[in-house]
Amino acid sequence: MLGQPHVDLESGNQSENTYPDGMPVLRIGLIESRDSVEFRLTGRFSVLNNQGVSILKDVASSVKWRVKIEQYSPAKYIYSVLLGKFHDRLEAQELEYKLIEKGIGTRIKIRGGKLYYNDRVVNDNTQFWVVVDDLNSEQEAVTFAKHSLSEFSYQIINEKINEPRALLELFDSEFEKLGEAENVFRIVPESQQVITYIYDLPLENEIQNRPVKYRSFNGPLEFRCANDGKIIIICEVPLEKYVESVVALEVNSDFPIDAIGAQAIAARSKTIASLGIKHHEDTFHLCSGTHCQLFNGLIQTPEKVKKAVQETMGIVLRDNRQVVDANYSLMCGGHTEAYHTIIQDDFGDPYPPVFDGSDQNQKEKYIDLTEDIDLNKWVREEPDVYCNLFNIQSSNKLNCIRKQFRWQINYDRQELEEIISTKMGTDIGVLYDIIPVRRGTSGRIFEIEILASNQNIVLYGMQQICQVLASERLPSSCFVINRQFDDNGFPISFIFNGAGAGHGVGLCQAGGVAMALHGKDHCEILSHYFKGINLKKIY
Ligand SMILES: [Zn+2]
Ligand SMILES: [Zn+2]
Repeated sequence: MLGQPHVDLESGNQSENTYPDGMPVLRIGLIESRDSVEFRLTGRFSVLNNQGVSILKDVASSVKWRVKIEQYSPAKYIYSVLLGKFHDRLEAQELEYKLIEKGIGTRIKIRGGKLYYNDRVVNDNTQFWVVVDDLNSEQEAVTFAKHSLSEFSYQIINEKINEPRALLELFDSEFEKLGEAENVFRIVPESQQVITYIYDLPLENEIQNRPVKYRSFNGPLEFRCANDGKIIIICEVPLEKYVESVVALEVNSDFPIDAIGAQAIAARSKTIASLGIKHHEDTFHLCSGTHCQLFNGLIQTPEKVKKAVQETMGIVLRDNRQVVDANYSLMCGGHTEAYHTIIQDDFGDPYPPVFDGSDQNQKEKYIDLTEDIDLNKWVREEPDVYCNLFNIQSSNKLNCIRKQFRWQINYDRQELEEIISTKMGTDIGVLYDIIPVRRGTSGRIFEIEILASNQNIVLYGMQQICQVLASERLPSSCFVINRQFDDNGFPISFIFNGAGAGHGVGLCQAGGVAMALHGKDHCEILSHYFKGINLKKIY
């Protein structure tokens, strides 16, 4: 098999960790594209190469060491046209036969796989992908698809055929070379008590704002040659420890325990559902950015988070086949968004968007917010929904979240022209108008057109829309645009009136907090946001 196998993730047998034996150990990719990395350990450790051979045995150092890349060559890929994804091999074969009848040779690729816990299969997210492969470049794949596969809906994907290679060198604080290895240095601390500090390792979203000095980890770490040929850091974490760390970044200690429990179950489900599907061509299971889930390797998890994760251990959101990709975001604004607006696959939406309240009259009134006229009214009102926290007496920390329920951001025309031009890297000229093209059920825009004198620009996806239209970023793409005009009918300012924060799909974290404060438990919270999905303890 090409690439790094991710299917059949076996349970780990780390003797030193404090988690039960048999718990799967995840490999998390921390950062890519580095030429060198500085690190320090607080206790004794060994350095191993790819074959597990010791380069340094049982050493200690109180100062920073450094790994540098000496020569490298990136991975090589072939391109394929993906024509369909299936849970069932027979369904995939049906499509394969249909294509063979048309004279098109295809192959079935397997993604996902079985997850083992204590040698028992606890989830199986195997997918069968029908592809036409062996195309040498992306362009060749696009041309082939346009000519021969235009009647199908298709997607271009790549597959690694040659692993990246690099020579890594290890130096001490005096820049004395201690060893070298092909592709991998594996750092194995003597015990879980030994902490590894990695320097200059920002979390996504922090990169522009305030780069952190270092992050701390425990357990084995790898400095490995990534697909782009540079160094990636991979840390190994038992599944439940990973969930703890993810949850700690998503909640604050003022959240009621049931809201944290709901978050833990969502994060655990999303983790398990993603294994072997995302990052299939990488040497790790999940990345540490929002593409997967934010992870910073936190060693000291707050007690409340630990408790919520332990009390829900092994509990997931599951449909009749497998664990579902349970998304979450800070505040839906009163209506959650449809799954397919952030993730497109062939399996349809695992759960529907919901009105985030209990008042049935309001629900009837605001079932669909895809039209500007309905949304305009919605963002000016303060509907009685769960994430409208204005009626809740609470702490300062919740006050910050509360303000995101309805928000307004104003820009002079020239100011916004400059922002858009800078972010797009092109001078747009005079800004005439900004027109939402497509909205989801919650009112979130996922296609918008900017009309300007030098060029018109179409933005796709909530991420890009929120980034480009504000000096920092808009809290969500659920907004209406109001303009003020001069006497000649020329726009002089743009006002964004919006609702909520984040993509709005799945669990609304603010709504979950309000529900918990109203006495709902984590089961009730999750069955509100994930209609038709069951809770099940799989280990
Ligand atoms: Zn990722
Ligand atoms: Zn909400």
